[in-house]
Amino acid sequence: MIAVSEIFSSIQGEGTWTGTPAVFVRLAGCNLSCDFCDTDYSLKRMMTVAQIVDAVRSAGAECPMVVLTGGEPLAQSESAALIDALREDGRRVHVESNGTIFASLPDDVWLCISPKERVNPTMAARADEAKLVVDERVPEEHLPLFAALPTILLQPEGNKPGNVALALDYLRAHPARFRLSLQTHKFIGVP
Ligand code: SF4
Repeated sequence: MIAVSEIFSSIQGEGTWTGTPAVFVRLAGCNLSCDFCDTDYSLKRMMTVAQIVDAVRSAGAECPMVVLTGGEPLAQSESAALIDALREDGRRVHVESNGTIFASLPDDVWLCISPKERVNPTMAARADEAKLVVDERVPEEHLPLFAALPTILLQPEGNKPGNVALALDYLRAHPARFRLSLQTHKFIGVP
């Protein structure tokens, strides 16, 4: 059984895939406890893999993209089985992780890592996308782990003006490698 917080259809508001329709599967629970966390990842329901696949079909039958998020989606022992089941159902699976937990992921799974504390180096090397949260500072200590990525996203925490200004200053100083990622879904009032 998998601990689920919510399953809903929306658009990806952040990062490389901003603006893309997606079904979000938010798994409950997280192995970290970040001060700035604004996500309700509390347990709402225990579900089987098959029930989640069905719920994804109900939320977005024609939607190719499914985002597994949390909390920390890789903290659950059945997350690999869920990823396989969703792929077999024809979905393109994206995983949004804090990068602390090792998991062997199929090559066609898009892995976004948003590092908070320690990061598993193998997962950092596997990442398709790195999203650094700017919260009164740019967390440069994580950059060496993502040396293989040509682009790093800077995401101002909470879209706060001070954090946006910090991120923009950093982008201007390092224009070749960094990009701004805003939580655009919050501008338009969608989850
Ligand atoms: S890793 Fe993400 S979900 Fe977990 S506590 Fe930190 S911000 Fe919240």
